Amino acid sequence: MDEMYCNNGPTSSAPAPSERIRVRRRKERAAYEREVIDAILDEGLVCHVGFAVDGQPFVLPMAYARLGGRLVIHGASGARLLRTLVGGVPVCVTVTLLDGLVLARSAFHHSVNYRSVVVLGVATEITDEVEKARALEAIVEHVAPGRTADVRAPTAAEMRATRVLALPLDEASAKRRSGPPLDDEDDLALPCWAGVLPLAQVPGRPVADAALPDGIPVPAYVTAYRRP
Ligand SMILES: Cc1cc2nc3c(=O)[nH]c(=O)nc-3n(C[C@H](O)[C@H](O)[C@H](O)COP(=O)(O)OP(=O)(O)OC[C@H]3O[C@@H](n4cnc5c(N)ncnc54)[C@H](O)[C@@H]3O)c2cc1C
Repeated sequence: MDEMYCNNGPTSSAPAPSERIRVRRRKERAAYEREVIDAILDEGLVCHVGFAVDGQPFVLPMAYARLGGRLVIHGASGARLLRTLVGGVPVCVTVTLLDGLVLARSAFHHSVNYRSVVVLGVATEITDEVEKARALEAIVEHVAPGRTADVRAPTAAEMRATRVLALPLDEASAKRRSGPPLDDEDDLALPCWAGVLPLAQVPGRPVADAALPDGIPVPAYVTAYRRP
């Protein structure tokens, strides 16, 4: 896969990355500024949470939200992932936005346009009831902005059944690729289509729940749904 093209160089306002979060390959594609990292996190829908138990790595997909300088995740109080992380196990969370398939003239130079974030750290449980409610609301709002105002709030029992963890964004990196394929000069005349097939997260047509009472319109935040 080609790793050569980049038009997203780092800027001088970037904080110095830690040695373990520093991007090695194509470091001109890296960014450590919070605004770059935040924008990717705010657009994504799914994170992948990596952690090790007795030397066995696990990587599980989860919903999430960014709450200021923290990434929050939630799940059943008894879930292994959350129980493990509460014990102070180091965690690695990734979020990836796939922006396009880069189809080159050579197999070697095929690539993808993407924006991704890696976060390293230790998560802590949010136990304060107000803060926990705010984090859960943030997850709902992250998935469907405007939704909280319409739905029933969690009961005390539902809150107890749910664990919420927060991971600081203090140690995080972004990496981005954009632009056309970068074929070798000698391959440019090959009779082979080359270019970029853009990809995006786009909603389909809303499907009303079968038990929905008559007369409830589809909210605007559903009909006009788009990621930021
Ligand atoms: C898009 C998406 C969003 C999700 N969001 C959340 C969330 O916000 N909160 C939440 O608690 N869960 C979420 N899940 C489910 C989550 O991935 C785990 O399945 C769950 O948290 C833990 O399940 P467990 O306790 O059974 O698994 P664990 O005991 O943690 O894992 C046991 C084994 O089950 C298998 N397994 C677990 N999860 C998956 C999976 N997703 N796919 C395939 N195999 C799996 C693996 O082999 C794993 O080793 C989400 C899943 C998806 C795909």
